[in-house]
Amino acid sequence: MRNRILVVVLALCFALSAMLVSCKSESAATATEAAARTKPYVGSVMREPFHKSTCKWAKKIHTDNLVGYDTKAQAVDDGRRPCKVCNP
Ligand SMILES: [Zn+2]
Repeated sequence: MRNRILVVVLALCFALSAMLVSCKSESAATATEAAARTKPYVGSVMREPFHKSTCKWAKKIHTDNLVGYDTKAQAVDDGRRPCKVCNP
């Protein structure tokens, strides 16, 4: 009987720690995405062009797919071409 309680407690601890770990990694990813939005140049992991962060197309990029760059050179080195609308 005592063993059974111990197993239940251990299982609960395991579930709780797994939940904490997943929460942590989720908030870390959100912080990275928020940081990408503050960069002067942004692109999408789905598409080739990069934009000024103020471009209307940059605002349409889903946060999950957003990549930020500090300089144009960084974006070009990453294999991207400038957007024809905002001409970064
Ligand atoms: Zn653009």
